[in-house]
Amino acid sequence: MNMHARPADPKKLIKGATGDWEVVIGMEIHAQVTSNSKLFSGASTEFGGEPNSHVSLVDAAMPGMLPVINAECVKQAVRTGLGLKAQINNRSVFDRKNYFYPDLPQGYQISQFKDPIVGEGVVLVDTADGQIEVGIERLHLEQDAGKSIHDLHPTQSLVDLNRSGVALMEIVSRPDLRSSEEAKAYVTKLRTILRYLGTCDGDMEKGSLRADVNVSVRKPGDDFGTRCEIKNVNSIRFIGQAIETEARRQIGILEDGGKIDQETRLFDPGRGETRSMRSKEEAHDYRYFPDPDLLPLEFDDAFVAELAAHLPELPDEKKARFVTQYGLSAYDADVLVAEKATADYYEAAVAHAGATRDAKAVANWIMGDVSAYANSVGLPLAETHIRPAQIASLVDLIADQTISGKIAKDVLLLIIGEEKDGDPRAIVEARGMRQVTDTGAIEAAVDAIIKANPDKVAQVQAKPTMLGWFVGQVMKQTGGKANPQAVNDLLKAKLGI
Ligand code: ADP
Ligand code: MG
Repeated sequence: MNMHARPADPKKLIKGATGDWEVVIGMEIHAQVTSNSKLFSGASTEFGGEPNSHVSLVDAAMPGMLPVINAECVKQAVRTGLGLKAQINNRSVFDRKNYFYPDLPQGYQISQFKDPIVGEGVVLVDTADGQIEVGIERLHLEQDAGKSIHDLHPTQSLVDLNRSGVALMEIVSRPDLRSSEEAKAYVTKLRTILRYLGTCDGDMEKGSLRADVNVSVRKPGDDFGTRCEIKNVNSIRFIGQAIETEARRQIGILEDGGKIDQETRLFDPGRGETRSMRSKEEAHDYRYFPDPDLLPLEFDDAFVAELAAHLPELPDEKKARFVTQYGLSAYDADVLVAEKATADYYEAAVAHAGATRDAKAVANWIMGDVSAYANSVGLPLAETHIRPAQIASLVDLIADQTISGKIAKDVLLLIIGEEKDGDPRAIVEARGMRQVTDTGAIEAAVDAIIKANPDKVAQVQAKPTMLGWFVGQVMKQTGGKANPQAVNDLLKAKLGI
């Protein structure tokens, strides 16, 4: 589907005084390349070192130093391009983007302008209203700048060049996004793809992934409006907030009869508003030109084919496989593949000890109680102490009727609490938690309760939904261990409902 022609979705429009508005968003994502050393030097990319401890003469722009391209960063960019189903350009050119800032010792950033390493691609994004296609315009390689530190000293600014020269991939989307929800889902999906590929760790808190968010508004069916670019938004939540507040600001101006100035703005999370950084007139003229210190970057098809052959299974493919192989719904599969570690955890539980077990039941446990526990302790699911083997065992115990689903929840609570590495089967045996399936024992309880409550018996015969009360009583009498199905069947038979 051509997203530029995607009709406006009424649910996503923003109400204004003069009618509904559609917001249009395109993103430029800066993703730090996972590699040991920088784009054009051998200095370490390690995060959090002593200021200026990972700085080579190239990164400090000492006169006469020459950049040498890091082949690992090139591979990572190509692998990312393949993951974005994008055109890989066998020949690309590094340009100088000239501007002056204290954290840019060269006086220019080496970037790619006219001929990027990766061209057009696409990202499929699942939203509450179905799947959308977000076009990728290009991906290019560039150097990161250093960091200015203004708040350590009352009258001086300090510069840390550890980040100077670290490789970034700038991934530019088409203006295909139509709401803050879509924009957040896009960044989340892109981050998932990068993490699967191992080309960027996606850690926004450390600045490994930063977004420039372009926002405009229009009346549905109109041409695109003038956009503003909100620079360097550093969390997914802030991306959503920045879009909402910027769209409303623009709608306010247009409805007052004003017009939007194309400008660069900053999002202030504290105030929840965007403010102007520079207008179009103040926009930099970067005077791009090919860097004479670097040859055009060239590789052959075999280089690309080799990288393509060793690409890991990516989230879309894993999701499709989960649907066919395990019979999961698209929604469940999507949730499970969002983090590769969760997907691996799931598959380990399904296949534990070489068994074939109910893959949907495993998914329900993982997406339900286990996720809830992981959230409550603030850990990714796969990093909790609960092991896939324990989930597998719980599902097996239910399947072979040793315990009911309800008892299984109690066993899980024990694993969360006092029996952290406990084997569920051993816990059930040691604590006498087996469910009672012996109909004789259940029948005795059923008979006793029917006998003791003639008034309720009359009620349930008039109103069968009362059956739950009887089930509850039998469960109480059997210490919660009666097989619920057997209890239901027996009660229905004896009460004649
Ligand atoms: P420039 O070359 O001036 O940086 P680009 O065409 O590269 O402009 O666009 C930069 C980003 O702005 C892209 O992510 C693109 O999708 C987005 N964009 C372009 N036009 C609009 C618009 N009218 N509204 C919102 N975003 C837009
Ligand atoms: Mg651009």
